[in-house]
Amino acid sequence: MTNDQIKTKANEVLKKYVQRGGVYKKFNSIMSAEKIKFRSITAKDNFLGIFTHANNGQAYIMINNNISNDGRRNFTIAHELGHYFLCHQLKNGQCFDADIFEDDTAVDTTEREANYFASCLLMPENKIRSAFLSMLSRSHKAKIKDFLHVKNNYTWGIWCGFRNDLMNRYGVSETALRCRLSNLGLAKFSFR
Ligand SMILES: [Zn+2]
Repeated sequence: MTNDQIKTKANEVLKKYVQRGGVYKKFNSIMSAEKIKFRSITAKDNFLGIFTHANNGQAYIMINNNISNDGRRNFTIAHELGHYFLCHQLKNGQCFDADIFEDDTAVDTTEREANYFASCLLMPENKIRSAFLSMLSRSHKAKIKDFLHVKNNYTWGIWCGFRNDLMNRYGVSETALRCRLSNLGLAKFSFR
């Protein structure tokens, strides 16, 4: 699938299930509407999540309850939802630490597609673009109002002024946020 097709699919899901606020607050209602059962399970550290079907056809998303970072946990659930909504035919459905990258570098095609889906679902382009640009325009420190290049202590300070607000709003880690903003051409990170 192309990135555009994946983005379109993510936007359809958002349109159907999310009227306002971050999608991560709606994970439970999305899964119950889609008749997916959710389980938080104890597993080895490098196991993050799985999308699978039981013999009776029941779909399950299971997430390792050891994931301590909320952003990482949300990204993992969104990734597993990606396997579901993109109708991936998975061999066993298990997704490990080495599959779920928040920065678009996964090698395996279905894993990369699920990661891109997760990014589009958690941080819809139109919303994050306008949120980021309005923060930049309100920043007294930022001289450039449509692009942020974090390249020294000064620009790092500007970034620190609103990264937490964006991370909380979208329920994502800093890694996922940086990746999304870079991919959308809104920011570049060459410092820290
Ligand atoms: Zn996966």
